[in-house]
Amino acid sequence: LLGSLGAASGLVVMGALWYVAKQRLSVRSLLKSALKTSEIYMVYQPVVNLSTREWIGAEALVRWRRPDGSDIRPDIFIPIAEETGLIQQMTLRIMETVAHDSVGILKKNPRFHIGMNLSGIDLESNTIIETLQRLLEHGHLRANNLLLEATERTLLKAHLANQVLSDIRSMGIAVAIDDFGTGYSSLSYLTELKFDYLKIDKSFVDTIGTNSATSHVIFHIIKMAQSLKLSIIAEGVESEHQARFLEQHGVQFAQGWLFAKPMLVADLVDHIHR
Ligand code: C2E
Ligand code: MG
Ligand code: MG
Ligand code: MG
Repeated sequence: LLGSLGAASGLVVMGALWYVAKQRLSVRSLLKSALKTSEIYMVYQPVVNLSTREWIGAEALVRWRRPDGSDIRPDIFIPIAEETGLIQQMTLRIMETVAHDSVGILKKNPRFHIGMNLSGIDLESNTIIETLQRLLEHGHLRANNLLLEATERTLLKAHLANQVLSDIRSMGIAVAIDDFGTGYSSLSYLTELKFDYLKIDKSFVDTIGTNSATSHVIFHIIKMAQSLKLSIIAEGVESEHQARFLEQHGVQFAQGWLFAKPMLVADLVDHIHR
């Protein structure tokens, strides 16, 4: 069903559009009920300090496993959740799960950072602020341990992004610009909005050590982030060569399969250093 959805979405014939719309609705109802079950769950990918290789935090990533054992990627179901009005419910569920999981994580390391991804729709109202306040008040989440990630694409789409992000920061929560370099990178929002972290997209990390025409771009992204006094997290580091290049160029943090793949919270807690 989801495979054919991707294939069909390229067609522009009316009949095909109707078909896609209908498919989306059935994905919506599958997702709506999945949200009430353990089909939707969270995994955590460690973020390391590049010079010590110590785990300093983790990014929470949502997963959907169907009863037949098949996995649907977040790249597929998150846009559908956004388009069919399910994303707020999903973000709420994600935040409550992360708040619950963070109790065990912070017991092991009180300084651990936990990253969460925001969707554009989360930045279009104050609901997210209310949810965060509630979870902070109940003591499950701690502002100092949180990092909220928003992509460039998200920022462009959401009219309230500026206000919501600054409210989040005034609660003492750090904010990251995610997938940097893949959207419509505009220097104006980088200076207007206040970010704490910049996450370099995997596509730039992939160019390290290659002769591709864009392999020098990552060097300039690093320089720019440094001049804006943003901490940098490199995404999708898969080789020792990439890790060393990044460290030598002053990147402090990274995540990627070289260090660890996303894992269940029990495995994360087991492996966090005291
Ligand atoms: P993202 O926030 O940029 O997350 C990083 C993605 O890169 C994750 O994919 C992660 O599994 C993958 N990754 C990390 N290291 C490596 C590596 O070394 N090699 C490779 N090939 N991949 C690596 P994932 O989990 O499939 O998530 C895809 C995107 O879906 C995320 O990109 C994010 O935009 C969105 N997403 C995931 N979870 C959530 C969520 O809870 N809420 C929202 N709103 N969006 C989410
Ligand atoms: Mg992210
Ligand atoms: Mg990213
Ligand atoms: Mg991404």
